[in-house]
Amino acid sequence: MPANTESKPSYRELTGLFRYVRPWRRRFILAMLASFISMGFGLMFPYLVGNLLDAAVPSVKVPTLPPWMRDVNQVALFLAGSLVVQAAFTFFSSYSFNKVGESAVVALRRDLYSRLISLPMRFFGEHRVGELSSRLSNDLAQIQDTLTFTFAQAIRQTMLLVGGIGLIAATSLRLSLVMISSFPLLILLGVLFGRRIRKLSRSAQDRLAETATIVEETLQGIANVKAFGNEQHETTRYAAGLDGFLKIVLKSAKLRAGLISFIIVGIFGSIVLVMWYGARLMQAGVLTHGELTRFVLSTIFVGGSVSSFAEIFTQIQKTLGATQRVRELLAEEPEQLSNAKPAERLGGAVTFDHVSFRYPSRPDLPVLRELSLEAKPGERIALVGPSGAGKSTIVSLLLRFYEPESGRILFDGRSAADFELHSVRGNMAIVPQEVLLFGGSIRENIAYGRPGAGDDEIRNAAARAHCVEFIDRFPEGFETLVGERGVKLSGGQRQRIAIARALLRDPAILILDEATSSLDSESEQLIQSALTALLENRTAFIVAHRLSTIRQCDRIYVIEGGSVTESGTHEELIVREGGTYRRLAELQFTS
Ligand code: ATP
Repeated sequence: MPANTESKPSYRELTGLFRYVRPWRRRFILAMLASFISMGFGLMFPYLVGNLLDAAVPSVKVPTLPPWMRDVNQVALFLAGSLVVQAAFTFFSSYSFNKVGESAVVALRRDLYSRLISLPMRFFGEHRVGELSSRLSNDLAQIQDTLTFTFAQAIRQTMLLVGGIGLIAATSLRLSLVMISSFPLLILLGVLFGRRIRKLSRSAQDRLAETATIVEETLQGIANVKAFGNEQHETTRYAAGLDGFLKIVLKSAKLRAGLISFIIVGIFGSIVLVMWYGARLMQAGVLTHGELTRFVLSTIFVGGSVSSFAEIFTQIQKTLGATQRVRELLAEEPEQLSNAKPAERLGGAVTFDHVSFRYPSRPDLPVLRELSLEAKPGERIALVGPSGAGKSTIVSLLLRFYEPESGRILFDGRSAADFELHSVRGNMAIVPQEVLLFGGSIRENIAYGRPGAGDDEIRNAAARAHCVEFIDRFPEGFETLVGERGVKLSGGQRQRIAIARALLRDPAILILDEATSSLDSESEQLIQSALTALLENRTAFIVAHRLSTIRQCDRIYVIEGGSVTESGTHEELIVREGGTYRRLAELQFTS
């Protein structure tokens, strides 16, 4: 989703929205009908009030009036009745428009989220999450507004405008021409102002999204902010962002206020004009009291609807912008994640054959260069090397987050591209350095490895990963909530949960990104023992930092500058004079 595209949104964008309204089209049509009826009764109001006045002056002979319209009480009763009917239909149409709009936006939100979450990693490398989520909530709120309110308002006001003009034309053609002559100017100004306001509100939204990014990132990394004592720095940064936002919003508010004042002067100006002209027609005996009243009331209706068009127009312009971004997002190509058939079990052989790669967001920087490596089924492979060498990138390619630029990745001797994505990922599990726990129970967090796993399997995995030792100490056991509303688990406990997750998944290929931080020796021992259980009977790629882990590996690949510079067992590599592994082992690995 190119965030700042300023291409002109077209009204065609709106047709995309109607796809979401379609399931509720019957309700939508009924709401429109109700709106028509209610407006019809609304338009009777000036007509009946005019009749009321004419009926009160017996001397006035209005030949067009039916006899019952010449009685004040009857007209008043009819007037009251029409209000009740109008109220009932308005209730139905207003509720229905809301129902349709809210339901459509819920469906849109769901689609958007599902699309967003299935977009390839490349997309997330190019967009900041804070900006994305703020945009989504703001853009969707705008669309929601339009579907629930603005749209109904546009229909209602169009009817009022057309009906009102019809009514005043029927009352006095001459007066109508006087009044309508003032419209083009009002509408033109409304459109011009509207355009400008739309531009401003778009850049205001952009600014708001930027500030939302600051909030999201600093709150997520609050420990860092505090540890560096950067609260003041962040507050200043946020305040500067807000200032920029405020400036634009105020500019837009000034324009809006100007538009409103102009409209008031314009509307009341035309009413004064009409009243003056009408009074003169009354003086000349061409117009009755009732007719002038009817005329003025209708004019107010019409004036009100003309002025509301400016707002409706700006709202629709804003929605077009929002819809455009939403549609851009929906048009992004998702990963092909068919879950139609269960993933076939892989044997666990993996080959990287002269793989070269650069990240799409940094096309100038080659990350992997002609890298080749191999893992036979059940082998433990250690990836070691200096920071930035490309170890995590190898893991990303293994998980098929990205495709190689050249060279091939093979699973069981077959090209990775021949497998469905879910078959590949379904055969893998990752134990990352930083374990992400969700705000649910411990049981749910372990079950994340294989949603739908039975309680026994979950307990079994937890036991093998040495989680039971700490879970049993919590009064609620497996149902203990973790995260914001629950207990905070230590680094070692989180890692054991991640291991339990992976055990539950029982993958053919395991990826272990070993934590660099050292743990206390008891925790360390439990984790090592949990890992031993996890590493059994599967191929493992270990981004390793501990000598104890590396020594157990069948082969070590030393990665430097995106290529393999040494490979062999610990015993082979450690004796190599001047070798990188030997140097790294002396400097870096924890024993
Ligand atoms: P470390 O041991 O510090 O984690 P590493 O060996 O895992 O390092 P990688 O994370 O694979 O190294 O990074 C290799 C290179 O690719 C680095 O130069 C890094 O800046 C770059 N890089 C990593 N991830 C991305 C990304 N998502 N987009 C662009 N460049 C990236």
